[in-house]
Amino acid sequence: MESLQKLRLFAEQMDLEPAEETQPGCAPNHIPLPMAGPTSQSLISNPHSPPLPCGASRPTNPKQQLGIYKAVAGGKTVPLLKTMLTSACERNCYYCPFRAGRNYRRATFKPEEMANTFMDMQRAGMVNGLFLSSGIIKGGASTQDKLLDTAEILRNKHDFRGYLHLKIMPGAERAQVERAMQLADRLSVNLEAPNTRRLQGLAPMKEFTEELVRPLQWIEEVRRNRPQYQGWNGRWPSTVTQFVVGAVGESDLELLSTSDYLYRQLRLGRTYFSAFRPIPDTPLEAQAAENPWREHRLYQASFLLRDYGFDMEEMPFDDDGKLPLAVDPKMGWAQRNLLEDPVEVNRADRESLLRVPGIGPRGAEAILRARRQGKLRDVNDLRQIGVVTTRLASFVLLDGHRPARQLRLL
Ligand code: SF4
Repeated sequence: MESLQKLRLFAEQMDLEPAEETQPGCAPNHIPLPMAGPTSQSLISNPHSPPLPCGASRPTNPKQQLGIYKAVAGGKTVPLLKTMLTSACERNCYYCPFRAGRNYRRATFKPEEMANTFMDMQRAGMVNGLFLSSGIIKGGASTQDKLLDTAEILRNKHDFRGYLHLKIMPGAERAQVERAMQLADRLSVNLEAPNTRRLQGLAPMKEFTEELVRPLQWIEEVRRNRPQYQGWNGRWPSTVTQFVVGAVGESDLELLSTSDYLYRQLRLGRTYFSAFRPIPDTPLEAQAAENPWREHRLYQASFLLRDYGFDMEEMPFDDDGKLPLAVDPKMGWAQRNLLEDPVEVNRADRESLLRVPGIGPRGAEAILRARRQGKLRDVNDLRQIGVVTTRLASFVLLDGHRPARQLRLL
């Protein structure tokens, strides 16, 4: 089978795997609104809402059919080839199209062939970044060797300096992980589930702590104890993971507790959440698809934990550990806490400003800067410095006054 044909074959089934952030232009127009309400609607049109991952729908254009996506990688937008070395796999994860025994046409690249194919595409201006994963054959360590061989050929033979995201295989050894840290810009280990018990229902051949969490711990140990210049391009790679959401009854509390640990203890760059969708001819094929709004609320909550200084205790979980679908978690928190006790924009510290719906890290910085020049007296002052004012009126004071009336006039 020729190389492009193999890439097409992989891309058909890789849409469930989020690669990098793919914004802008990733509006959730494929997502039905939950029990409607103004908050849900404003969330869609609000540019300060957290981005959604793209690539969650079937590839439609010729580039996507090869696995090429526009992705934000390393601070730049690059055409990224998202692909794998082999779609054969000896494991049997219940949700996965590549699981052992599934009747499906498989394909495999040798490391040299993958590197050459990628470089041909790069020279043709089609791609400038690679996200490389793989099914597992002859154990995780042997598969990891092939991924590393591909990376070595790209970096050392072809002198490829662009963006490289490598998957760390379950069962990879520490020395392999450390080598990957010297070759890649980003590494990912997909936990799939928030804990051992839930993983059993999704991927019974994977071992949660030893195979999945441990490599992330090794990476963080290296980042803390060894100098950055030993990493690729003088930097240690960032790390990400992915959870399958809604297949085995896990709660948002479980998913976010694990995310919180990963952010705080292992400095994970991002957790991806993939709403479960059943794949034909897998053990979970009869299971209902998860509501994509749950995925969206999990992203919002995880950004509150990562970027906004929120604690797990502040998340608006219900008794079953679920986040409400109809309201974004920051708005939910503000409605409970700020209606009676609004934030005075002219005096609040950064952390308090970040609690206000509509004020993100950039807005908070802009407010702190502007306050050095003088008082902010009305919503026009906020708008002029780039703060989104459509959602904050009920939760702030400006120079001692609620701006709600001004907003209505505007
Ligand atoms: S190990 Fe990876 S490729 Fe293999 S079945 Fe599990 S998720 Fe799929």
